[in-house]
Amino acid sequence: MKLARRAQGIGASPTLAMNARAKEMKKQGIDIISFTVGEPDFNTPDHIAAAGISAIEKGFTRYTPAAGLPELKEAICAKLKRDNGLEYQAADVVVSNGAKHSIYNVLQALIDEGDEVIVPAPYWVSYTEMIKLNGGTPVVVATRAENGFKLTPEALAESLTPRTRAIFLNTPNNPTGAVYSRRELEQLAEVLVPRGVVIIADEVYEKLLYDGIVMTSVASLGPEVKALTVLINGVSKTYAMTGWRIGYAAAPRELAQAMANIQSHATSNPNSIAQQAAIAALNGPQEPAQQMLAEFAKRRARMVEGINAIPGLSCRKPEGAFYVFADTSDLYGQTIRGQKITDSISLAEFLLTEAHVALVPGVAFGDDRFVRFSYATSMENIDKGLQRIKDVLTEVR
Ligand code: GLU
Repeated sequence: MKLARRAQGIGASPTLAMNARAKEMKKQGIDIISFTVGEPDFNTPDHIAAAGISAIEKGFTRYTPAAGLPELKEAICAKLKRDNGLEYQAADVVVSNGAKHSIYNVLQALIDEGDEVIVPAPYWVSYTEMIKLNGGTPVVVATRAENGFKLTPEALAESLTPRTRAIFLNTPNNPTGAVYSRRELEQLAEVLVPRGVVIIADEVYEKLLYDGIVMTSVASLGPEVKALTVLINGVSKTYAMTGWRIGYAAAPRELAQAMANIQSHATSNPNSIAQQAAIAALNGPQEPAQQMLAEFAKRRARMVEGINAIPGLSCRKPEGAFYVFADTSDLYGQTIRGQKITDSISLAEFLLTEAHVALVPGVAFGDDRFVRFSYATSMENIDKGLQRIKDVLTEVR
C-alpha cells in the first residue's frame, strides 16, 4: 500500500521500541536488564489509584468536555499558582492524553508548512518527528557537555531565521538531566521575545530535581515571556502515572482554544477516569512523590558512580529527570567479541545481545557519541546491569 509521505518519513519512537524489544526478549525467557524507557517503576500511589477506582464505581465513565474536566483544570491552575507562581484561567488549559499529546496539539495549532522549530540537542526523541509530522522543519542546534548541555544565547541567535516559529525548551532535560537556571532562561528569552518566537516549555520532569537545584518555569520570567510560552506538563513522571495518560498545556488563550478545537476532532476528551485520578494527584498529599524522588536520588548516585567506573564510559551528574547520558565514544572503533563497535546503535545492539542490557542509543536524541541510561529502575537492576556492562567491556581490545 502506498503510504502518505509523512508516514514514510518516520519510524517507531526509539525509546518505546527499545523498551518493547527488551520486554519481548524477557518474555522469551532472556534475563534482560532494561535501562530504556523513562517510566517510574513504582506503582501509582494508593490515594490516586483509589480516585480512579471510585470514578469507575460511581459510573464516571462518560464524555467530559473535550479539553478536560473543569475541576481538573482548576487543580492544574492551582498547581501552577502554588508551584510556579503563574496565573492561568481554566480556559487557558487543555488536558490531553499525556504531555506527548499536548505537544502534538501545540504543533498542530502553530506550525505551517515549512515553519522552522528550533530543537536544542540532545533532545527528546519525539520532538523532531512531531515537527516533521506537522509539516515543520526541525532546526537542531547542538549544545556542549562543557556548557552542561545547555543552549547558549549566541548559538540560539545564530539559528534564528525569518521562518523560525517556535523553540523547544525542555528543563529538566531528557536525556541529559540539564536544568536551566533563571538567568540562563532570561538570556535566551532576551533573544526570543523581540523575534516573537513561541516557546514550547516542556517541564514534565519539573519535580525530579536533585541537590537542592531550583526549577524556574519559563513562563514565570515575566508577562512578555508568558505571552509567548506554552507550558507543557503532566502527571506521568511525578506520580508514577505513565499508563493513565494525562498531560496538559497552559497557553495564551487563542492558542489554547485552537488546541482544544483540534483535540475535540481528533480524540475528544482524555480518559474520564484518569482525569479524576489526576485531580487526586494534584490536590492530594505530595509525600508519595517526594518518597519516589528520594529513591531516584539514591539511584542517580549509584548509576553515575557505576558508569564512571566502567572503562570507556563517562558521564556528568544530571541535575534533574531520571536519565544519565553517558559518553561512549571512546569505545567506537574497538572490537569486542569479534564485533566492531562503530556508533551508539552498534554499541546498544552489542550490549543488548551480549550483556543483556537494554539502552537507548544517543543518536535517537541527536548525539551519536552518547547512550542513554534510565535509572527509573530498581537499585538491584542498576547494580546488575552495570556489572554486566563492565564484564563485557573489559574484553575490549
Ligand atoms: N519520555 C519517556 C522516555 O523518553 C517515555 C517514552 C517516550 O515517550 O519517549 O523514555
